[in-house]
Amino acid sequence: MTATPDLYDTLREFVGLDAGPPRQAPDPVNQPMIRHFAEAMGDVNPVYVDDQAARAAGRDGVVAPAPMLSTWLMLGYRERQSAPADGAAETPLARLLGLLTAEGFTGVVATNDEQTYHRELRLGDQLSMSTVIEDVSPRKQTALGPGHFVTTLRTYRDGEGAVVAEQRFRILRFAPKQAPDAADAAGAADAGVSARPRPFVLPDNEFWFAAAREHRLVIQACDACGRLRHPPSPICPHCLCPGWHEVAASGRGTVHSYVITHHPRAPGFTYPLAVILADLEEGTRLVADFAGDPGSVQIGMPVEVEWVRLDEQFTLPRFRAAGEV
Ligand code: ZN
Repeated sequence: MTATPDLYDTLREFVGLDAGPPRQAPDPVNQPMIRHFAEAMGDVNPVYVDDQAARAAGRDGVVAPAPMLSTWLMLGYRERQSAPADGAAETPLARLLGLLTAEGFTGVVATNDEQTYHRELRLGDQLSMSTVIEDVSPRKQTALGPGHFVTTLRTYRDGEGAVVAEQRFRILRFAPKQAPDAADAAGAADAGVSARPRPFVLPDNEFWFAAAREHRLVIQACDACGRLRHPPSPICPHCLCPGWHEVAASGRGTVHSYVITHHPRAPGFTYPLAVILADLEEGTRLVADFAGDPGSVQIGMPVEVEWVRLDEQFTLPRFRAAGEV
């Protein structure tokens, strides 16, 4: 896991390379996607849905909300399943990230996302995106562990090739600190679960995953009003206080609701799969899969958390019927 000068020299050779082949948006900028996005965001500006209102506001017609930029180029579920490493197995970006993984920098957190818009997107715009590896930092010591920052610059163009936006995206690839009981947990890991998709870790929820690595279920508590909240968020939804501390949860609760999923099938799970929404004793709710017979789950049933280790970064809760080990 030592980062030698040789490694950094190798990493620097990727700077300036195309991350992978350019991507074409599967659909032109269109009203249904804009409508869904605006509704989900609670943005009622009529320039996104009403042609006349958009013209009255000086546009040539309906425009897309600027923050939708990346959604037009997102890989679909099926495409991502068949191309897990950002498009193709052997793109320069995949090779760069593979090198970092091989050196132990297996953790990933997004740190910066700077977007520049040159014009609003209009209905019918057919977008494409090219991505360049702009920078790889020297080895840095961070709160998450030692790592390298990788910066990519995405350039978005319209059907005529004119640049409409740029997005500078920076991630930290880091070597996660080893949890004290990681060696024991590794012994208990089920080989199949390592294939499971990984959750997104952000500065706001990193503490929760760090606690989970140590088999501690924690809940955010507001410093001002004391109310508990989950999932993690940067401010209290009740009193808007940004200060918070974590409290330990017992891991016990009761089934509030559940679903038995059959499709689509994510790798690393056994189907049919019961996924439980539990009322924890502390009052917040937690979603996790169920370890036992899916047919045995009932609303109101007592459950308790056990831990499933996916890899050295992720250990996640799973429910079992209370009292069963
Ligand atoms: Zn509060």
